[in-house]
Amino acid sequence: MALSGLQIFKLLAKTNCKECGFPTCMAFAMQLAAGKAELDKCPYVSDEAKAALGEASAPPVRKVTVGAGDLAVTVGEETVMYRHEKRFEHMPGLGVMITDAMDDAQVDTLMRQLKEQQFNYVGRTLRPRVAAIKAADGAALAALAAKVDAGCGAALVLVSDDAAALKAAAEPLKDKKPLLYAASESNFDAVAAVARELDVPFAIKAGTLDKLAELGQKALDGDFKDVVLDPSSSSLGDVLMDQTLIRRSAVKKTFRALGFPTIGFPCNMTDDRMLEAVYASVFIAKYAGFVILSDLDPARTLPLLYLSQNIYTDPQKPMQMDQGIYPVNDPGPEAPIIVTTNFSLTYFTVSSEVEASKMPAWLAIMDVEGQSVLTAWAAGKFVADAIAPFLKKSGIEEKAPHKNVIIPGYVAQISGELEEELGDGWQVQVGVREAADIPKFLRQWSAA
Ligand code: SF4
Repeated sequence: MALSGLQIFKLLAKTNCKECGFPTCMAFAMQLAAGKAELDKCPYVSDEAKAALGEASAPPVRKVTVGAGDLAVTVGEETVMYRHEKRFEHMPGLGVMITDAMDDAQVDTLMRQLKEQQFNYVGRTLRPRVAAIKAADGAALAALAAKVDAGCGAALVLVSDDAAALKAAAEPLKDKKPLLYAASESNFDAVAAVARELDVPFAIKAGTLDKLAELGQKALDGDFKDVVLDPSSSSLGDVLMDQTLIRRSAVKKTFRALGFPTIGFPCNMTDDRMLEAVYASVFIAKYAGFVILSDLDPARTLPLLYLSQNIYTDPQKPMQMDQGIYPVNDPGPEAPIIVTTNFSLTYFTVSSEVEASKMPAWLAIMDVEGQSVLTAWAAGKFVADAIAPFLKKSGIEEKAPHKNVIIPGYVAQISGELEEELGDGWQVQVGVREAADIPKFLRQWSAA
């Protein structure tokens, strides 16, 4: 049973030390009761209090990990309906369906894509991580799962209605925590027994949310925590409605029977690959934990991964780089110095253009709390009397003593003032406004 804020408060240390990030123990207790804070943020909770808080301290959507090692996928642990209320915690695991109806070449291609398909985007590596394995019987399922595990190490979803087949495939791989898919009304006890015996997560599927909640409650009654839900949505409207209702029930009503992450199979919903990508995008935007596609064409996986990344960044924390000097293309003492802000997108756009130009350069990245050039300038953070001390203390003069610095074209107006602030023979050159023009600019700079 959920505890009230006051009940939780009575179990806390009541020192108001603020280490949890909240001004008082009472404020922390209220947020905990609302499912918007995690108990482990308070370092002073006694074991006794932890036990007493029990369920009340669990996030409204349980955390579940499928797979092991680099490609393990952790989902759930979500506490809000909308990203701007706090943040979404764990990006969904994007994956592909691999079946024993595919020939070896197809399977090999998908394994290679799972292994090699990696996209770097604003400093993070995005990649599909999940392989859903489906086969006609236990032996074929076990053989294909073992092959895919050895071939690419993806987090595995084992697909069968037969508990014995799931066991045959999962047992040799139980340390890799494959997800058993799925327990339904007809086989719940058998699949749950395999999950308990092997200590692996399992999915529950049902045709209606009522039935799904019934089975979710059965899992709770059996003390299962690593559970994933599939409401078997069959249309775009159903996906939107089912995923929203599941999240709303979990987060707003603390309805534990639906308080688990979800899995969606756009691969089973249409033969039209573009429409499938649209379905996948709705699953991603609307809370799904795992999204399984029919192939890994980068024309679709790349935008889907970018979409996930955009939704799952913390809206309260601008993505930013550490302040410092970043060498690009092995620069020497004569290489140009380009100063810009530490907004990740700015940094990665500029550095990738410099890299593509093959011209060596020093990037002087200034901490302006992750703001872009114009925003930081407007906020008085990327201005002459801030940039000058940054450059002087940055150590750039030891690496490149020529005392020429290039500023972004958007802040051309600060060039004179910056030259004055820097003094000591420094010269300021106005660079380009658009990153795409950087290669041409650098070629002209080095020719001058
Ligand atoms: S860290 Fe714990 S003791 Fe300190 S204010 Fe937060 S809840 Fe209270």
